[in-house]
Amino acid sequence: MRYIDLHCDTLTRALELGARDMLSLPEAMLDVRRLRAAGALGQVFAVYFPPRSELRRRFGMDDEAFFCACAKIYHNTFGRSRSPRGFAHFVSGRADPPAFFPVLSLEDGRILSGKPGNIARFRDLGVQLITLTWNEPNCLGFPCSSDARIMERGLTPFGIDAVWEMNRRGVAVDVSHLSDGGFWDVLRHSERPFLASHSNARAVHKHPRNLTDDMLRAIARRGGIVGLNFAPSISGTGGSEQLLRHARHILRVGGEDILALGSDLDGFQESSELCSARHIAALPEYFHGSGFSCDATEKLAYRNALRFFEDVCD
Ligand SMILES: [Zn+2]
Repeated sequence: MRYIDLHCDTLTRALELGARDMLSLPEAMLDVRRLRAAGALGQVFAVYFPPRSELRRRFGMDDEAFFCACAKIYHNTFGRSRSPRGFAHFVSGRADPPAFFPVLSLEDGRILSGKPGNIARFRDLGVQLITLTWNEPNCLGFPCSSDARIMERGLTPFGIDAVWEMNRRGVAVDVSHLSDGGFWDVLRHSERPFLASHSNARAVHKHPRNLTDDMLRAIARRGGIVGLNFAPSISGTGGSEQLLRHARHILRVGGEDILALGSDLDGFQESSELCSARHIAALPEYFHGSGFSCDATEKLAYRNALRFFEDVCD
């Protein structure tokens, strides 16, 4: 089945492998050849920033140099065209589905360095989605944490301005990895739908990276989406059965309009039965065989994600 995946770390993996592009990366979990073979309609590629000390040690780069190196791989792979222009035509049925559209994202907004002007700059460089934090505090806010004092902290004043500016510039706001306090601040300040690109349900697996039922309901009311994360540590046990549990719960609490896919491939090292593009493509069919209606299955596979990008990245 055609599908859209809201998160992978293949770009960082490609840089690590010394590749020039992502057309064929046999050592990675994904590459364009396998995405096309699996019928992917869209894939979000994150520039995942390792902690600064690790960035220096492993890549000998600062944040800006690292972003440029990843963006170069992205543009070597896909050219410089801005893909989401085609969203509206496809959603409204006026055009055939594009063969494939890529989306560039930042995983960790720390590179914004507290400067609102950087949002327009990165938008012009092709970034259409920003995951506000990773696992460390940054200029935007605080990460999710098992430490309640960190978990309850909200966005910084710059984080609030940044959400507003991202709304204005058509850059999607991503709350995956964000603290609970930050989540509620995004809800308070974002005028547009926002997403959790790669998070599951906390009621199914109690992990700070996952979303509470109240959060799922809030995302649903705001027209946002939630991408199911395949990483065994985040889903609980890994595997399609466990993801079905998360999907059923999210569907029950937030409805069928919020479910999407956010595999996190190339972002985890644990071994998992779900570790390739064809596994992402097979998951909606497995859900359908387990009782998901045709409509709910298609929405989860790609329609919700298309609707979201059409709403946000205009
Ligand atoms: Zn992540």
